[in-house]
Amino acid sequence: MTREEFVSRQAAADALSRGYFWGIIYSIWLATVLAAIILVALLGFSFFTHADVRAERIAMLWELGCCVALFWGANHAFNVRARKVEQLTVRCTSCRRFVSRESEKSTLETGRCAGCGAQVIGP
Ligand SMILES: [Zn+2]
Repeated sequence: MTREEFVSRQAAADALSRGYFWGIIYSIWLATVLAAIILVALLGFSFFTHADVRAERIAMLWELGCCVALFWGANHAFNVRARKVEQLTVRCTSCRRFVSRESEKSTLETGRCAGCGAQVIGP
């Protein structure tokens, strides 16, 4: 692997794991968890009080379904991202260790894996 390839792959992996988009996805994930807890509590409470709120219960079940769908979608997006970051991040061909952000600098300086010392960059 050339130095340029190494730098561009590490930068691409880095760019993929950052950004506002993932902040928004995380907010959705968190909101669905909180909303689901509240909805389950309200549903339980409505059964506990034996109130005649059938329409409200159906609406809450629909909302709960939407929360589950959004939660699943956000989780799926995080899994896809994790897989892509893993594919992009450079791995040592000898010990299969990922070149982490911490060891990236030393690998760039020496061209070698910080773990086993095998050649990662260059011939
Ligand atoms: Zn190694």
